[in-house]
Amino acid sequence: PFDVLVVGGGPAGASAAIYAARKGIRTGVVAERFGGQILDTLGIENFIGTKYTEGPKLAASLEEHVKEYNVDIINSQRAKRIEKKDLIEVELESGAVLKSKTVILSTGARWRNVNVPGEAEFKNKGVAYCPHCDGPLFEGKDVAVIGGGNSGIEAAIDLAGIAKHVTVIEFAPELKADSVLQDRLFSLPNVTVVKNAQTKEITGTDKVNGITYVDRATGEEHHIELQGVFVQIGLVPNTEWLEGTVERNRIGEIIVDKRGATSLPGVFAAGDCTDSAYNQIIISMGSGATAALGAFDYLIRN
Ligand code: FAD
Repeated sequence: PFDVLVVGGGPAGASAAIYAARKGIRTGVVAERFGGQILDTLGIENFIGTKYTEGPKLAASLEEHVKEYNVDIINSQRAKRIEKKDLIEVELESGAVLKSKTVILSTGARWRNVNVPGEAEFKNKGVAYCPHCDGPLFEGKDVAVIGGGNSGIEAAIDLAGIAKHVTVIEFAPELKADSVLQDRLFSLPNVTVVKNAQTKEITGTDKVNGITYVDRATGEEHHIELQGVFVQIGLVPNTEWLEGTVERNRIGEIIVDKRGATSLPGVFAAGDCTDSAYNQIIISMGSGATAALGAFDYLIRN
């Protein structure tokens, strides 16, 4: 059996695997897609110590770094079940069962899509999901934020300081964000809020040039010319398969303590699949390191 089995091969999983392997314990990583979300990322400018890199390049160097150590990488395999017996068992969709003394869950998250024409087509060509990452690309431009919850309004406030103008498009008749955020938003001169509006299409040629929405009260269609659309309707943790095992919060994020421990002894978690406050590469790597050190502490005590 493994001493530490990491499930998920994004920044959190890679970091956890390296920290575990450096303790000289038997370490494995099973990942559906080694690299994770960064494989879908173009420019990265906030990975501290590296002024600029690109997602696929960072993913390749994560893999190269993990392979410096004696880590079994099991790629293109999806975990579907975890169960604690004498050892912890992780069953893969292939039917194989991996056994380990400790497990680190680092299955990440995915952005919730609006699923309108143009969204997939213009991803990274004006359609963005992360204001901390891609906001500066829209300096002096007109953008829209889809979603009037806390993340949408935070994004709009953030973008208003960079972009020329920000339009918030909310499906419901009212914004759902906290009132302090709404007050801050409405104090800004370059923000327009459109409520009760259904996004119909993100338009463009080689990149985004506008957005079309339907006024749900009148059925009338409107088109706004702009260069960027931030989709902010939620991040979904990849934790559905853990139903009934480790404790998760209301939105499905795994609840961890300061050592990365979950409610199931010997099972740790790190990165975007957990209830961490923010989801970024550097943060998920830090929590991956924490979870590995937490798992090592657990091993020497049990
Ligand atoms: P992920 O990267 O999501 O990795 C999860 C891993 O788990 C993957 O290997 C996946 O295949 C695997 N997995 C999932 N389910 C299973 C399963 N059941 N069995 C086995 N394996 C499974 N952050 C920044 O700091 N700077 C940026 O510029 C930036 N830009 C971004 C741009 C885009 C378009 C996106 C989508 C995200 C961006 N982020 C950025 C956020 C950053 O990518 C994430 O915070 C980070 O990748 C989280 O790492 P993670 O390891 O927790 O999860």
